Amino acid sequence: MELYQLTIHELHDMLKKGETTSETITESVLSRIKAVDGKVKAYITVTEEVARAQAREADKRIKAGDTSSPLLGIPIAVKDNMCTDGIKTTCASKILGNFVPPYDATVVRNLKQAGYVLCGKPNMDEFAMGSSTENSGFFITKNPWDLERIPGGSSGGSAAAVAAGECIGALGSDTGGSIRQPASCCGVVGLKPTYGRVSRFGLVAFASSLDQIGPITKDVTDAALLMNIISGHDEKDSTSANIPSPDYTRALKKDVKGMKIGLPKEYFIEGMDPEVEKAVKDAVKMLEGLGAKVVQVSLPHTDYAVATYYILATSEASSNLARYDGVKYGYRTQSPKDLMDMYMKSRAEGFGPEVKRRIMLGTYALSAGYYDAYYKKGQQVRTLIKRDFDEAFKTVDVIATPTAPTAAFKIGEKSSDPLQMYLSDIFTISVNLAGIPGLSLPCGFTSGNLPIGLQLLGKHFDEESILHAAFAYEQATEWHRKRAKL
Ligand code: GLN
Repeated sequence: MELYQLTIHELHDMLKKGETTSETITESVLSRIKAVDGKVKAYITVTEEVARAQAREADKRIKAGDTSSPLLGIPIAVKDNMCTDGIKTTCASKILGNFVPPYDATVVRNLKQAGYVLCGKPNMDEFAMGSSTENSGFFITKNPWDLERIPGGSSGGSAAAVAAGECIGALGSDTGGSIRQPASCCGVVGLKPTYGRVSRFGLVAFASSLDQIGPITKDVTDAALLMNIISGHDEKDSTSANIPSPDYTRALKKDVKGMKIGLPKEYFIEGMDPEVEKAVKDAVKMLEGLGAKVVQVSLPHTDYAVATYYILATSEASSNLARYDGVKYGYRTQSPKDLMDMYMKSRAEGFGPEVKRRIMLGTYALSAGYYDAYYKKGQQVRTLIKRDFDEAFKTVDVIATPTAPTAAFKIGEKSSDPLQMYLSDIFTISVNLAGIPGLSLPCGFTSGNLPIGLQLLGKHFDEESILHAAFAYEQATEWHRKRAKL
Protein backbone atom coordinates (compact mmCIF):
# COMPACT_ATOMS: atom_id res chain seq x y z
CA MET A 1 0.00 0.00 0.00
CA GLU A 2 1.17 3.49 -0.88
CA LEU A 3 0.70 6.20 1.75
CA TYR A 4 -1.83 8.08 -0.40
CA GLN A 5 -4.12 5.03 -0.25
CA LEU A 6 -4.40 5.05 3.53
CA THR A 7 -6.99 6.69 5.78
CA ILE A 8 -6.63 9.59 8.21
CA HIS A 9 -6.64 7.28 11.23
CA GLU A 10 -4.14 4.83 9.72
CA LEU A 11 -1.73 7.64 8.86
CA HIS A 12 -2.21 9.24 12.27
CA ASP A 13 -1.19 5.95 13.91
CA MET A 14 1.92 5.79 11.74
CA LEU A 15 2.83 9.40 12.52
CA LYS A 16 2.42 8.76 16.24
CA LYS A 17 4.72 5.75 16.08
CA GLY A 18 7.28 7.67 14.06
CA GLU A 19 6.87 5.30 11.10
CA THR A 20 6.45 8.13 8.63
CA THR A 21 6.42 11.92 8.47
CA SER A 22 3.90 14.44 7.24
CA GLU A 23 6.37 15.50 4.56
CA THR A 24 6.55 11.92 3.24
CA ILE A 25 2.76 11.59 3.24
CA THR A 26 2.36 14.97 1.56
CA GLU A 27 4.90 14.10 -1.16
CA SER A 28 3.09 10.81 -1.73
CA VAL A 29 -0.21 12.68 -2.26
CA LEU A 30 1.37 15.41 -4.41
CA SER A 31 3.05 12.87 -6.68
CA ARG A 32 -0.21 10.94 -6.93
CA ILE A 33 -1.89 14.17 -8.06
CA LYS A 34 0.88 14.65 -10.67
CA ALA A 35 0.43 11.09 -11.87
CA VAL A 36 -3.36 10.91 -12.20
CA ASP A 37 -4.96 14.34 -12.12
CA GLY A 38 -4.40 14.80 -15.85
CA LYS A 39 -6.99 12.04 -16.25
CA VAL A 40 -9.31 12.62 -13.27
CA LYS A 41 -9.20 16.45 -13.25
CA ALA A 42 -10.30 16.65 -9.64
CA TYR A 43 -8.58 19.94 -8.79
CA ILE A 44 -9.04 23.54 -9.79
CA THR A 45 -6.04 24.52 -7.67
CA VAL A 46 -3.31 22.31 -6.20
CA THR A 47 -1.67 24.09 -3.27
CA GLU A 48 1.73 22.42 -3.47
CA GLU A 49 3.77 25.08 -1.69
CA VAL A 50 1.24 25.63 1.09
CA ALA A 51 1.05 21.86 1.58
CA ARG A 52 4.82 21.49 1.87
CA ALA A 53 5.09 24.35 4.37
CA GLN A 54 2.22 23.00 6.50
CA ALA A 55 3.75 19.50 6.41
CA ARG A 56 7.10 20.83 7.67
CA GLU A 57 5.25 22.69 10.43
CA ALA A 58 3.33 19.51 11.37
CA ASP A 59 6.53 17.46 11.50
CA LYS A 60 8.03 20.02 13.88
CA ARG A 61 5.02 19.67 16.19
CA ILE A 62 5.20 15.87 16.04
CA LYS A 63 8.94 15.92 16.79
CA ALA A 64 8.19 18.06 19.81
CA GLY A 65 5.87 15.31 21.06
CA ASP A 66 2.52 16.90 20.11
CA THR A 67 0.44 14.19 18.43
CA SER A 68 -2.91 14.82 20.07
CA SER A 69 -4.68 16.07 16.93
CA PRO A 70 -5.75 13.20 14.67
CA LEU A 71 -5.51 15.51 11.68
CA LEU A 72 -1.99 16.77 12.32
CA GLY A 73 0.06 16.51 9.12
CA ILE A 74 -2.72 14.93 7.01
CA PRO A 75 -3.42 16.22 3.45
CA ILE A 76 -7.04 17.34 3.02
CA ALA A 77 -8.83 18.90 0.03
CA VAL A 78 -11.32 21.73 0.60
CA LYS A 79 -14.11 22.24 -1.96
CA ASP A 80 -13.59 25.43 -3.92
CA ASN A 81 -16.63 27.17 -2.40
CA MET A 82 -15.04 27.49 1.06
CA CYS A 83 -12.90 30.56 1.63
CA THR A 84 -9.19 29.97 2.10
CA ASP A 85 -7.20 33.01 3.15
CA GLY A 86 -4.84 34.03 0.34
CA ILE A 87 -5.80 31.06 -1.85
CA LYS A 88 -8.10 31.35 -4.87
CA THR A 89 -11.71 30.31 -4.18
CA THR A 90 -13.66 30.20 -7.43
CA CYS A 91 -16.85 28.18 -6.88
CA ALA A 92 -15.92 26.83 -10.33
CA SER A 93 -17.38 30.05 -11.76
CA LYS A 94 -15.79 32.53 -14.15
CA ILE A 95 -17.40 35.26 -12.10
CA LEU A 96 -15.14 34.33 -9.16
CA GLY A 97 -12.27 33.14 -11.36
CA ASN A 98 -9.80 35.57 -9.78
CA PHE A 99 -11.26 35.78 -6.26
CA VAL A 100 -8.73 35.44 -3.46
CA PRO A 101 -10.49 35.63 -0.08
CA PRO A 102 -8.89 37.73 2.66
CA TYR A 103 -10.11 35.31 5.34
CA ASP A 104 -10.67 31.64 6.17
CA ALA A 105 -14.05 29.93 6.45
CA THR A 106 -14.62 28.76 10.03
CA VAL A 107 -14.20 25.12 8.97
CA VAL A 108 -10.85 25.98 7.38
CA ARG A 109 -9.76 27.80 10.51
CA ASN A 110 -10.70 24.69 12.51
CA LEU A 111 -8.73 22.44 10.16
CA LYS A 112 -5.73 24.77 10.48
CA GLN A 113 -5.91 24.64 14.25
CA ALA A 114 -5.94 20.85 14.00
CA GLY A 115 -2.70 21.06 11.99
CA TYR A 116 -4.00 19.80 8.63
CA VAL A 117 -2.18 20.06 5.34
CA LEU A 118 -4.18 21.73 2.54
CA CYS A 119 -3.42 19.91 -0.71
CA GLY A 120 -5.86 21.74 -2.96
CA LYS A 121 -9.25 23.10 -3.94
CA PRO A 122 -11.33 20.55 -5.89
CA ASN A 123 -13.65 21.15 -8.82
CA MET A 124 -17.43 21.35 -8.45
CA ASP A 125 -20.56 22.33 -10.32
CA GLU A 126 -20.64 26.12 -10.64
CA PHE A 127 -21.92 27.55 -7.34
CA ALA A 128 -22.71 23.94 -6.31
CA MET A 129 -25.60 23.77 -8.78
CA GLY A 130 -25.60 20.32 -10.31
CA SER A 131 -25.14 16.60 -9.80
CA SER A 132 -22.24 15.79 -12.11
CA THR A 133 -19.57 18.57 -12.17
CA GLU A 134 -20.55 19.03 -15.82
CA ASN A 135 -21.73 22.50 -14.77
CA SER A 136 -18.25 23.57 -13.69
CA GLY A 137 -17.28 26.80 -15.45
CA PHE A 138 -13.82 25.32 -16.11
CA PHE A 139 -13.79 21.57 -16.89
CA ILE A 140 -15.52 18.27 -16.10
CA THR A 141 -14.13 15.96 -13.40
CA LYS A 142 -14.05 12.24 -14.27
CA ASN A 143 -15.09 9.32 -12.10
CA PRO A 144 -11.94 7.42 -11.01
CA TRP A 145 -13.83 4.11 -11.40
CA ASP A 146 -14.67 4.84 -15.03
CA LEU A 147 -13.25 7.92 -16.71
CA GLU A 148 -16.17 8.13 -19.12
CA ARG A 149 -18.57 8.70 -16.26
CA ILE A 150 -19.44 11.59 -13.97
CA PRO A 151 -18.11 11.61 -10.39
CA GLY A 152 -21.44 13.01 -9.15
CA GLY A 153 -21.87 16.53 -7.93
CA SER A 154 -21.71 19.13 -6.92
CA SER A 155 -18.76 18.04 -4.71
CA GLY A 156 -17.56 15.79 -7.54
CA GLY A 157 -13.95 16.99 -7.39
CA SER A 158 -13.77 16.32 -3.64
CA ALA A 159 -15.20 12.80 -3.96
CA ALA A 160 -13.06 11.95 -7.00
CA ALA A 161 -9.94 13.23 -5.22
CA VAL A 162 -10.64 10.99 -2.21
CA ALA A 163 -11.40 7.97 -4.41
CA ALA A 164 -8.31 8.50 -6.58
CA GLY A 165 -5.92 8.94 -3.63
CA GLU A 166 -5.34 12.58 -4.56
CA CYS A 167 -5.96 13.58 -0.94
CA ILE A 168 -6.56 11.63 2.26
CA GLY A 169 -9.94 13.20 3.03
CA ALA A 170 -11.97 16.17 1.87
CA LEU A 171 -14.68 18.66 2.72
CA GLY A 172 -17.75 19.03 0.55
CA SER A 173 -20.97 20.99 0.82
CA ASP A 174 -24.49 19.65 0.47
CA THR A 175 -27.59 21.67 -0.41
CA GLY A 176 -29.62 18.87 -1.94
CA GLY A 177 -27.25 15.90 -2.00
CA SER A 178 -23.91 17.33 -3.11
CA ILE A 179 -21.88 15.41 -0.52
CA ARG A 180 -23.81 12.15 -0.50
CA GLN A 181 -24.47 11.65 -4.21
CA PRO A 182 -20.82 12.12 -5.32
CA ALA A 183 -19.68 9.95 -2.40
CA SER A 184 -22.05 7.27 -3.68
CA CYS A 185 -20.82 7.64 -7.28
CA CYS A 186 -17.16 7.43 -6.23
CA GLY A 187 -17.41 4.64 -3.62
CA VAL A 188 -16.49 6.74 -0.58
CA VAL A 189 -18.19 7.97 2.59
CA GLY A 190 -19.98 11.34 2.68
CA LEU A 191 -21.81 12.90 5.62
CA LYS A 192 -24.18 15.85 5.49
CA PRO A 193 -24.58 17.01 9.09
CA THR A 194 -27.77 18.42 10.62
CA TYR A 195 -28.48 21.97 9.46
CA GLY A 196 -26.76 24.19 12.04
CA ARG A 197 -24.22 21.60 13.18
CA VAL A 198 -21.32 23.00 11.14
CA SER A 199 -20.68 26.70 10.64
CA ARG A 200 -21.40 28.06 7.17
CA PHE A 201 -19.29 31.17 7.75
CA GLY A 202 -17.02 31.49 4.72
CA LEU A 203 -18.98 28.99 2.63
CA VAL A 204 -20.08 30.80 -0.52
CA ALA A 205 -23.86 30.72 -0.24
CA PHE A 206 -26.05 28.82 -2.70
CA ALA A 207 -29.29 28.29 -0.72
CA SER A 208 -28.66 29.45 2.82
CA SER A 209 -31.47 27.51 4.51
CA LEU A 210 -30.24 24.21 3.01
CA ASP A 211 -26.42 24.46 2.71
CA GLN A 212 -24.24 22.40 5.08
CA ILE A 213 -20.54 21.51 5.02
CA GLY A 214 -19.45 17.94 5.75
CA PRO A 215 -16.68 15.35 5.35
CA ILE A 216 -15.98 13.08 2.37
CA THR A 217 -13.65 10.27 3.44
CA LYS A 218 -12.46 6.74 2.73
CA ASP A 219 -14.21 5.27 5.74
CA VAL A 220 -16.66 6.00 8.54
CA THR A 221 -13.99 6.47 11.21
CA ASP A 222 -12.43 9.29 9.20
CA ALA A 223 -15.85 10.94 8.81
CA ALA A 224 -16.26 10.92 12.61
CA LEU A 225 -12.76 12.35 13.08
CA LEU A 226 -13.40 15.22 10.68
CA MET A 227 -16.79 15.90 12.28
CA ASN A 228 -15.04 16.32 15.63
CA ILE A 229 -12.96 19.08 14.09
CA ILE A 230 -15.51 20.99 11.99
CA SER A 231 -18.69 20.83 14.07
CA GLY A 232 -19.75 23.22 16.80
CA HIS A 233 -21.26 26.60 17.49
CA ASP A 234 -19.86 29.65 15.70
CA GLU A 235 -20.77 33.21 16.57
CA LYS A 236 -20.10 34.19 12.98
CA ASP A 237 -22.97 32.03 11.68
CA SER A 238 -26.29 32.98 13.25
CA THR A 239 -27.82 29.69 12.09
CA SER A 240 -25.17 27.55 13.74
CA ALA A 241 -26.67 25.72 16.67
CA ASN A 242 -25.51 26.51 20.17
CA ILE A 243 -25.56 22.94 21.42
CA PRO A 244 -22.51 20.91 22.39
CA SER A 245 -20.99 18.53 19.84
CA PRO A 246 -20.22 15.03 21.07
CA ASP A 247 -17.07 13.04 20.41
CA TYR A 248 -18.33 11.31 17.29
CA THR A 249 -15.77 8.50 17.50
CA ARG A 250 -17.64 7.24 20.56
CA ALA A 251 -20.52 6.30 18.23
CA LEU A 252 -18.35 3.84 16.29
CA LYS A 253 -19.63 0.54 17.67
CA LYS A 254 -19.91 -2.76 15.84
CA ASP A 255 -23.05 -3.92 17.56
CA VAL A 256 -26.45 -2.58 16.46
CA LYS A 257 -28.57 -4.77 18.74
CA GLY A 258 -31.95 -3.19 19.30
CA MET A 259 -31.43 -0.38 16.78
CA LYS A 260 -34.59 0.28 14.77
CA ILE A 261 -34.09 0.90 11.08
CA GLY A 262 -36.90 2.21 8.88
CA LEU A 263 -37.30 1.50 5.17
CA PRO A 264 -39.47 4.17 3.52
CA LYS A 265 -41.69 2.55 0.94
CA GLU A 266 -41.61 5.69 -1.22
CA TYR A 267 -37.86 5.25 -1.76
CA PHE A 268 -38.04 1.85 -3.42
CA ILE A 269 -39.79 2.80 -6.58
CA GLU A 270 -40.31 1.53 -10.08
CA GLY A 271 -37.67 2.76 -12.47
CA MET A 272 -34.79 2.51 -10.04
CA ASP A 273 -31.83 0.40 -11.09
CA PRO A 274 -32.45 -3.21 -9.91
CA GLU A 275 -28.75 -3.61 -9.02
CA VAL A 276 -28.97 -0.56 -6.75
CA GLU A 277 -32.16 -1.83 -5.15
CA LYS A 278 -30.64 -5.25 -4.51
CA ALA A 279 -27.41 -3.87 -3.02
CA VAL A 280 -29.30 -1.58 -0.65
CA LYS A 281 -31.74 -4.29 0.42
CA ASP A 282 -28.84 -6.70 1.01
CA ALA A 283 -27.14 -4.06 3.14
CA VAL A 284 -30.26 -3.66 5.24
CA LYS A 285 -30.43 -7.45 5.65
CA MET A 286 -26.85 -7.40 6.81
CA LEU A 287 -27.72 -4.77 9.44
CA GLU A 288 -30.61 -6.97 10.51
CA GLY A 289 -28.13 -9.81 10.90
CA LEU A 290 -26.05 -7.56 13.14
CA GLY A 291 -28.98 -7.10 15.50
CA ALA A 292 -31.05 -4.25 14.07
CA LYS A 293 -34.82 -4.41 13.76
CA VAL A 294 -36.10 -3.41 10.34
CA VAL A 295 -39.56 -1.92 9.88
CA GLN A 296 -41.38 -0.21 7.04
CA VAL A 297 -42.05 3.51 7.37
CA SER A 298 -43.79 6.01 5.13
CA LEU A 299 -42.72 9.48 4.01
CA PRO A 300 -45.89 10.40 2.13
CA HIS A 301 -44.80 13.80 0.78
CA THR A 302 -41.70 12.43 -0.97
CA ASP A 303 -43.28 13.03 -4.39
CA TYR A 304 -43.26 16.78 -3.81
CA ALA A 305 -39.63 17.03 -2.73
CA VAL A 306 -37.99 17.72 -6.10
CA ALA A 307 -40.49 20.45 -7.00
CA THR A 308 -40.31 22.03 -3.55
CA TYR A 309 -36.53 22.00 -3.53
CA TYR A 310 -36.23 23.59 -6.96
CA ILE A 311 -38.56 26.43 -5.94
CA LEU A 312 -36.87 27.15 -2.61
CA ALA A 313 -33.24 26.53 -3.62
CA THR A 314 -33.52 28.67 -6.76
CA SER A 315 -35.31 31.46 -4.85
CA GLU A 316 -32.56 31.63 -2.27
CA ALA A 317 -29.91 31.38 -4.98
CA SER A 318 -31.38 34.26 -6.98
CA SER A 319 -31.12 36.44 -3.91
CA ASN A 320 -27.67 35.22 -2.84
CA LEU A 321 -26.18 35.63 -6.31
CA ALA A 322 -27.35 39.23 -6.66
CA ARG A 323 -24.07 40.27 -5.02
CA TYR A 324 -22.01 39.35 -8.10
CA ASP A 325 -22.36 42.59 -9.97
CA GLY A 326 -18.84 43.24 -11.22
CA VAL A 327 -18.30 45.99 -8.64
CA LYS A 328 -17.01 44.61 -5.38
CA TYR A 329 -15.18 41.50 -6.49
CA GLY A 330 -14.95 38.93 -9.21
CA TYR A 331 -15.24 39.25 -12.94
CA ARG A 332 -15.99 42.59 -14.65
CA THR A 333 -16.75 42.98 -18.35
CA GLN A 334 -14.10 44.69 -20.47
CA SER A 335 -15.57 47.86 -21.99
CA PRO A 336 -19.10 48.59 -20.80
CA LYS A 337 -21.09 51.56 -22.15
CA ASP A 338 -22.35 52.64 -18.75
CA LEU A 339 -23.03 51.31 -15.25
CA MET A 340 -26.15 49.32 -16.19
CA ASP A 341 -24.33 47.77 -19.14
CA MET A 342 -21.45 46.86 -16.82
CA TYR A 343 -23.78 45.05 -14.39
CA MET A 344 -25.57 43.20 -17.14
CA LYS A 345 -22.56 42.19 -19.20
CA SER A 346 -20.51 41.16 -16.17
CA ARG A 347 -23.28 38.79 -15.08
CA ALA A 348 -24.07 37.59 -18.60
CA GLU A 349 -20.41 36.78 -19.26
CA GLY A 350 -19.52 35.57 -15.77
CA PHE A 351 -22.30 33.06 -15.00
CA GLY A 352 -22.77 29.75 -16.81
CA PRO A 353 -26.07 28.50 -18.27
CA GLU A 354 -27.29 26.44 -15.28
CA VAL A 355 -26.65 29.28 -12.84
CA LYS A 356 -28.55 31.66 -15.11
CA ARG A 357 -31.44 29.21 -15.37
CA ARG A 358 -31.64 29.05 -11.58
CA ILE A 359 -31.44 32.80 -11.10
CA MET A 360 -34.35 33.19 -13.54
CA LEU A 361 -36.43 30.42 -11.93
CA GLY A 362 -35.82 31.84 -8.46
CA THR A 363 -36.50 35.44 -9.45
CA TYR A 364 -39.78 34.33 -10.98
CA ALA A 365 -40.82 32.35 -7.88
CA LEU A 366 -40.10 35.34 -5.66
CA SER A 367 -41.70 38.02 -7.81
CA ALA A 368 -44.85 39.89 -6.77
CA GLY A 369 -47.89 37.97 -7.86
CA TYR A 370 -46.13 34.62 -7.90
CA TYR A 371 -44.62 34.64 -4.43
CA ASP A 372 -47.66 33.14 -2.70
CA ALA A 373 -48.23 30.53 -5.39
CA TYR A 374 -44.64 29.33 -5.47
CA TYR A 375 -42.29 30.42 -2.69
CA LYS A 376 -44.85 30.48 0.11
CA LYS A 377 -46.42 27.23 -1.07
CA GLY A 378 -42.94 25.71 -1.24
CA GLN A 379 -42.28 26.67 2.37
CA GLN A 380 -45.57 25.07 3.42
CA VAL A 381 -44.78 21.82 1.64
CA ARG A 382 -41.32 21.91 3.18
CA THR A 383 -42.97 21.80 6.60
CA LEU A 384 -45.02 18.76 5.54
CA ILE A 385 -41.86 16.99 4.37
CA LYS A 386 -40.15 17.73 7.66
CA ARG A 387 -43.20 16.42 9.57
CA ASP A 388 -43.03 13.16 7.61
CA PHE A 389 -39.56 12.59 9.03
CA ASP A 390 -40.58 13.67 12.56
CA GLU A 391 -43.39 11.12 12.39
CA ALA A 392 -41.17 8.31 11.06
CA PHE A 393 -38.51 8.97 13.70
CA LYS A 394 -41.09 8.41 16.43
CA THR A 395 -40.74 4.70 15.66
CA VAL A 396 -37.22 4.28 14.24
CA ASP A 397 -33.68 5.42 15.06
CA VAL A 398 -32.32 5.45 11.52
CA ILE A 399 -33.84 5.42 8.03
CA ALA A 400 -32.11 3.50 5.23
CA THR A 401 -32.51 4.30 1.51
CA PRO A 402 -30.48 4.21 -1.67
CA THR A 403 -28.39 7.40 -2.05
CA ALA A 404 -29.19 7.74 -5.74
CA PRO A 405 -31.50 5.83 -8.11
CA THR A 406 -28.59 4.74 -10.34
CA ALA A 407 -24.83 4.40 -10.21
CA ALA A 408 -22.68 7.07 -11.94
CA PHE A 409 -24.06 7.91 -15.38
CA LYS A 410 -22.08 8.69 -18.54
CA ILE A 411 -20.73 12.17 -19.13
CA GLY A 412 -23.21 13.96 -21.42
CA GLU A 413 -26.03 11.51 -20.74
CA LYS A 414 -28.21 13.99 -18.86
CA SER A 415 -26.63 17.36 -19.48
CA SER A 416 -29.08 18.34 -22.22
CA ASP A 417 -32.12 17.61 -20.03
CA PRO A 418 -32.13 19.58 -16.77
CA LEU A 419 -35.19 17.72 -15.49
CA GLN A 420 -33.49 14.33 -15.80
CA MET A 421 -30.51 15.80 -13.97
CA TYR A 422 -32.73 17.19 -11.19
CA LEU A 423 -34.23 13.71 -10.70
CA SER A 424 -30.86 12.24 -9.72
CA ASP A 425 -31.37 14.07 -6.39
CA ILE A 426 -34.69 12.44 -5.68
CA PHE A 427 -33.45 10.50 -2.63
CA THR A 428 -31.21 13.17 -1.15
CA ILE A 429 -33.04 16.51 -1.26
CA SER A 430 -35.83 15.80 1.26
CA VAL A 431 -33.08 15.47 3.85
CA ASN A 432 -31.95 19.07 3.30
CA LEU A 433 -35.53 20.33 3.30
CA ALA A 434 -36.06 18.60 6.66
CA GLY A 435 -32.64 19.72 7.98
CA ILE A 436 -31.73 16.24 9.24
CA PRO A 437 -28.33 14.51 8.89
CA GLY A 438 -27.61 11.94 6.17
CA LEU A 439 -24.65 9.74 5.32
CA SER A 440 -23.77 7.75 2.22
CA LEU A 441 -21.43 4.77 2.34
CA PRO A 442 -20.46 2.12 -0.20
CA CYS A 443 -22.66 -0.98 -0.19
CA GLY A 444 -21.63 -2.81 -3.34
CA PHE A 445 -20.85 -2.54 -7.04
CA THR A 446 -22.84 -2.89 -10.24
CA SER A 447 -21.94 -5.58 -12.77
CA GLY A 448 -20.04 -2.79 -14.56
CA ASN A 449 -17.89 -2.27 -11.43
CA LEU A 450 -19.45 1.05 -10.41
CA PRO A 451 -19.90 1.82 -6.70
CA ILE A 452 -23.39 1.87 -5.13
CA GLY A 453 -24.26 3.97 -2.08
CA LEU A 454 -26.42 3.23 0.96
CA GLN A 455 -27.95 6.33 2.56
CA LEU A 456 -28.59 6.41 6.31
CA LEU A 457 -30.68 9.22 7.81
CA GLY A 458 -31.03 10.31 11.42
CA LYS A 459 -32.96 12.63 13.69
CA HIS A 460 -31.94 16.25 14.06
CA PHE A 461 -28.51 16.41 15.76
CA ASP A 462 -28.28 12.63 15.91
CA GLU A 463 -25.30 12.08 13.61
CA GLU A 464 -24.19 9.50 16.15
CA SER A 465 -26.88 6.93 15.31
CA ILE A 466 -26.08 7.03 11.61
CA LEU A 467 -22.33 6.86 12.24
CA HIS A 468 -23.01 3.92 14.55
CA ALA A 469 -25.09 1.99 11.96
CA ALA A 470 -22.64 2.92 9.19
CA PHE A 471 -19.61 1.76 11.17
CA ALA A 472 -21.23 -1.55 12.12
CA TYR A 473 -22.09 -2.22 8.48
CA GLU A 474 -18.67 -1.13 7.25
CA GLN A 475 -16.82 -3.35 9.70
CA ALA A 476 -18.83 -6.35 8.50
CA THR A 477 -18.04 -5.67 4.82
CA GLU A 478 -15.02 -5.03 2.60
CA TRP A 479 -16.40 -2.37 0.20
CA HIS A 480 -14.51 0.47 1.85
CA ARG A 481 -11.18 -1.25 1.21
CA LYS A 482 -11.65 -1.27 -2.57
CA ARG A 483 -9.68 1.36 -4.45
CA ALA A 484 -10.26 2.56 -8.00
CA LYS A 485 -7.54 1.40 -10.40
CA LEU A 486 -6.24 4.21 -12.52
N1 GLN B 1 -27.92 18.54 -7.33
C1 GLN B 1 -28.62 19.48 -6.52
C2 GLN B 1 -28.72 20.80 -7.23
O1 GLN B 1 -28.28 20.88 -8.32
C3 GLN B 1 -27.95 19.62 -5.18
C4 GLN B 1 -26.73 20.43 -5.25
C5 GLN B 1 -26.09 20.61 -3.90
O2 GLN B 1 -26.36 19.88 -2.97
N2 GLN B 1 -25.26 21.63 -3.80
O3 GLN B 1 -29.22 21.76 -6.69
